[in-house]
Amino acid sequence: LIVFDQVVKRFGDLTVLDHLDFSVDPGERVTLIGPSGSGKTTILRLLMTLEKVTEGVIRVGGEPFSHMPRGGSGGLVPAGESYLRERRKRIGMVFQQFNLFPNMTVRQNVIEAPVHVLGIPKEEANAKAEQLLDLVGLADKVDAHPTQLSGGQQQRVAIARALAMSPEILLLDEVTSALDPELVAGVLDVLREVAESTDITMLCVTHEMGFARDVSHRVLMFDQGQIAEEGTPDQIFGDPQEERTRSFLRSVL
Ligand code: ATP
Repeated sequence: LIVFDQVVKRFGDLTVLDHLDFSVDPGERVTLIGPSGSGKTTILRLLMTLEKVTEGVIRVGGEPFSHMPRGGSGGLVPAGESYLRERRKRIGMVFQQFNLFPNMTVRQNVIEAPVHVLGIPKEEANAKAEQLLDLVGLADKVDAHPTQLSGGQQQRVAIARALAMSPEILLLDEVTSALDPELVAGVLDVLREVAESTDITMLCVTHEMGFARDVSHRVLMFDQGQIAEEGTPDQIFGDPQEERTRSFLRSVL
């Protein structure tokens, strides 16, 4: 579903991703781990089209994502804003900071994009919002404002909001890092439930190794903008082959 083909990302002189190749199958749940600064968040931001590739191509479902086809010639040119806006609808992202609209209720936060971006009738969007808020355990908070909720509850709203767009791909960027420790488990439980009850493709950056082990089909260990090692959670956590992976795991476990 997702293909990174020789992707290079530089910020000035700093090469963050260095000719990166990897792909993710439909329905696959992949966790990205690795030291701070190894480029994990940048991968999600490129997929969300919040950053542009320096070299290489990203494809989603066979379609160029970072670029768009040039009329008739078969070549590719950098994607324009309206092309990106269309592509972005296929992807939902949840960030470390929840970024809810503070002056809207929980329900309004969840239906905003489906109604205004996808043009879904309000009644239908409302029904789906209620179903999703039930899934994340917040059925009784539909009319609350974000400030009335705990950080964990706000993050669960952010998850419902991302799912409300019916994305094919869900990107999770350290979604529990900003939470008080006692709120982390509730959010991870919701994500386990999402993983089990849907066939959504998930790409997840996390420092929660237990969660990574439970939900992912595959773990990619990044170091200096390249994949140092990849494998099933059992392989990576139980029997890592690379010294870089072993020393990273020692530092987080
Ligand atoms: P962390 O676990 O700390 O979030 P990461 O592996 O997700 O790390 P990235 O956030 O992808 O790493 O960042 C990779 C490198 O790119 C870092 O050195 C970072 O400082 C740099 N970087 C990221 N975004 C920008 C930007 N907009 N401008 C300049 N440098 C950037």
